[in-house]
Amino acid sequence: MSLKRYEFWFITGSQHLYGPETLKQVEEHSKIIAQGLNDSSSIPCSVVFKPVVTTPDQITEIVKEANYNDNCLGIITWMHTFSPSKMWINGLTLLQKPYCHLHTQFNRCIPNEGIDMDFMNLNQAAHGDREHGFIAARLRMPRKVIVGYWEDEDVHTKLGSWMRSAVGVKVSKNLKVMRFGDNMRQVAVTEGDKVEAQIKLGWQVNTTAVGDLVEEINKVTEAQVDALMEEYKKKYDIATDNIASVRYQAKLEIAMKKMLDEAGCGAYTNTFEDLHGMEQLPGLASQRLMEAGYGYGGEGDWKVSALTHIMKQMGEGLEGGSAFMEDYTYDLTKGNELSLGAHMLEVCPTLAADKPRIEVHPLGIGGKADPARLVFEGRPGKAIVVSLVDMGGRLRMIVQDVEAVKPIYEMPNLPVARVMWKPLPDLKTGAECWILAGGAHHTVFSYAITAEQMQDFAEMMDIEFVHITKDTTVEGLKQLLFLQDIAWKLK
Ligand code: MN
Repeated sequence: MSLKRYEFWFITGSQHLYGPETLKQVEEHSKIIAQGLNDSSSIPCSVVFKPVVTTPDQITEIVKEANYNDNCLGIITWMHTFSPSKMWINGLTLLQKPYCHLHTQFNRCIPNEGIDMDFMNLNQAAHGDREHGFIAARLRMPRKVIVGYWEDEDVHTKLGSWMRSAVGVKVSKNLKVMRFGDNMRQVAVTEGDKVEAQIKLGWQVNTTAVGDLVEEINKVTEAQVDALMEEYKKKYDIATDNIASVRYQAKLEIAMKKMLDEAGCGAYTNTFEDLHGMEQLPGLASQRLMEAGYGYGGEGDWKVSALTHIMKQMGEGLEGGSAFMEDYTYDLTKGNELSLGAHMLEVCPTLAADKPRIEVHPLGIGGKADPARLVFEGRPGKAIVVSLVDMGGRLRMIVQDVEAVKPIYEMPNLPVARVMWKPLPDLKTGAECWILAGGAHHTVFSYAITAEQMQDFAEMMDIEFVHITKDTTVEGLKQLLFLQDIAWKLK
């Protein structure tokens, strides 16, 4: 897997009091643990053993190296023995990478006959890791604490999951977003402070003239379009006679991809209010680019576009997709209330239950020619929806757990891809909480990424996090929002 190119440094702390013999054993055990984690199929990135640190200078040095190394996405610390943690203050205060404290032990069980004071002195993570945990708490450091035996699957899964959040940090800090046109006129929730977003999340969000895109569209050759049409025929059912419309979308795909790649952009936005010189709103073209991993946001929504790209990268190699989504309309059948998600055109085919169909239909908005789009149903399964809103002075991430279902109607006249889900704890409470928290109509919908991963990501990025779960109540959420609002104003 290509995420293996990313490293997490396994750093074991100790001190000189133990003497060289014990320190040698500490090192041997650490190597075995690092190798064991690295070999686990549940751990997507590389775990790299680093020599045991026993002095403040060594700790500071390794943290500085981790900060500087582009392939190192984070550190994993473990105190096999006792490492007085005032030694860690200077190093940890410099740390700029995600930080996981693995609270484990080399031996699973206490050897009944074998335990003596030597064994106790070597295997003392139970108190060594408490000393280490205190200093991170004292320094108010965001970090993940994972507890359990290092060979256990649940520990690997937790560590692997956290690593994907750190991959999100890496992607986020290097992300460029291309905006074709501005935000949809008068819309509030898709607006935001791009300077603040760059300070907190690293996103470079800049505009590009639609006229430049039109020039690129005009440069696309018929041969290029022919080649892409062959790919469309293989991957999708072409359920239209309007091949000219499909070919125009192929042109859009080729032109936009070229511009994104040349500028090093992983995400983009457009708006139906600014398509000057274009014949159609990109539909199929945007769906194809999302399928290839680019982030997209409709109506100029650069926040959801960037987040879509980041979550796609976090989920690399996992089952299920992550996609730009919009709460569109409800089915309020009593006791089985559901949300129908879709967009005007742009729903990512990584969510599709079956082979998507290419169809061409009129679009009542934007005043352009009938655009080709992929039509399909989403898969049933557990998922989350994620929204990022600008609260003025800070960003708030809202995550809601949802259960996607097979759409309960066929909806033969609905000309767009559709996903249907039940927001937790139920639509009425869930929507009330979502609206109270200020969650947008645009979200990233993901089968692949968990709420815990988004919470870890939010912590690493130092942004506010709100989670609506099966256990959320309106009263509890109101209190949480009230307290968090005060806390974030004080921060
Ligand atoms: Mn929209």
